[in-house]
Amino acid sequence: MKAYDGMYIDGSWRPAAGPDVIEVVDPADEQVIATVPAGTVEDVDAAVRAARAALPAWAATPPAERAARLTALRDALVARQDEIARTVTAELGAPPKLAQTVHAGLPVAVAGSYAELAAAYAFEERTGNSTVLHEPVGVVGAITPWNYPLHQIVAKVAPALAAGCTVVVKPAEDTPLTARLFAEAVHEAGVPAGVFNLVTGLGPVAGQALAEHPDVDLVSFTGSTAVGRRIGAIASGMVKRVALELGGKSANVILPSADLARAVNVGVANVMSNSGQTCSAWTRMLVHRDRYDEAVELAAAAAAKYGDRIGPLVNAGQRERVRGYIEKGVAEGARLVAGGPEAPREKGYFVSPTVLADVTPEMTVAQEEIFGPVLSVLRYDDEEDALRIANGTVYGLAGAVWAGDEAEAVAFARRMDTGQVDINGGSFNPLAPFGGYKQSGVGRELGVHGLTEYLQTKSLQF
Ligand code: NAP
Ligand code: MG
Repeated sequence: MKAYDGMYIDGSWRPAAGPDVIEVVDPADEQVIATVPAGTVEDVDAAVRAARAALPAWAATPPAERAARLTALRDALVARQDEIARTVTAELGAPPKLAQTVHAGLPVAVAGSYAELAAAYAFEERTGNSTVLHEPVGVVGAITPWNYPLHQIVAKVAPALAAGCTVVVKPAEDTPLTARLFAEAVHEAGVPAGVFNLVTGLGPVAGQALAEHPDVDLVSFTGSTAVGRRIGAIASGMVKRVALELGGKSANVILPSADLARAVNVGVANVMSNSGQTCSAWTRMLVHRDRYDEAVELAAAAAAKYGDRIGPLVNAGQRERVRGYIEKGVAEGARLVAGGPEAPREKGYFVSPTVLADVTPEMTVAQEEIFGPVLSVLRYDDEEDALRIANGTVYGLAGAVWAGDEAEAVAFARRMDTGQVDINGGSFNPLAPFGGYKQSGVGRELGVHGLTEYLQTKSLQF
């Protein structure tokens, strides 16, 4: 058990203002592995002041130099890749391979992409008799979740730094150790003091203080819709910019002409990965009624294979929440064909990979984000019915379409109300804009679209 006592503020680790700590728990065995300080309003204020003080110089730093710091940050993340993966396994419970490739690996790609974008982006353009300057928004308050603890931080910090903004991060209370490693990497990259700051703490205390701070110009939040709504209200009350990356209930639409076995197997893997704790997971599988029984059989078999390969959920609260949804699904008439609400092991916050069949569009398990290894399989009559079901939730973050012919799948995807659609298993692209339609959020992350979130324009006429 390690007791950390510092917060990374103004370029160094300094003691927290208050005595409170957060216990970090390994969800695989329920042991406390470390404590970190629980930041207060005072710590948040110190961090925001540091970010404000550092802003003018960082904003005036030539983009090529900002790019050089981001390249160094990318290299520091590479150097620490094994340590990051081990830490994500310890505090989130992600299996080692997933921790290495996705949790530690994806942030390297994203940091690298912003090193390139910072160097290449046209921060000035000419239109008519105007020169348009793309200037940094200012001080960014970033509030991040635990499900992809490093990715969620890098997806905000890298574009913010590329744009010339300075940042204060409040990471999720469940995964502060990965955030601390990121702060070490930023330090090693030679990013000037105050440009990046980290305050560990509880959402309603440190998170809220950050969102409410008058010297924060933009709040970028990823997490639950309930908290996102509150943060949006605070931000609009203060007329500050806000970016919200919220939940999802994405549809995996399998059209009749698709390779059914492939679509189902990839679809199940998509849901079970990271124990179902992925906002963009395809948690609703939509299958034509003629192929429905076959699809359910394939899905149940695929889920059963995952039994030993998935990690625990992040904490006891999430496990109870997920079990509650499975029970609710069955109570509302869904048919359990794999997994179930029972604890598969004595220790650890595990839930078995679960498949619910005979799910209808109005059921709770077809409408609400479960955030666990639970797949709902729905039937549709024809393409119009499939589209109505696919678009029939308050969310619109991601999705998938499978068809024998790529053009057929693309035509369907064009009609979906959602921010991303993978066609016949198209792979994740860290340069493609990521973000929600409808209540899945406001704003976009990643690539050039993610960069422009952190910029504001000034027009000079001459
Ligand atoms: P959450 O409470 O929304 O947490 C996200 C972040 O917001 C954390 O850093 C959290 O701090 C902070 N926060 C909480 N209350 C706050 C407040 N009043 N003001 C400012 N910041 C606040 O999410 P959760 O409770 O960990 O997870 C609940 C559900 O959210 C999940 O079941 C899932 O449906 C959804 N979720 C979605 C995503 C996504 O990627 N879209 C990620 C995670 C969770 P604490 O860590 O201290 O709570
Ligand atoms: Mg929370």
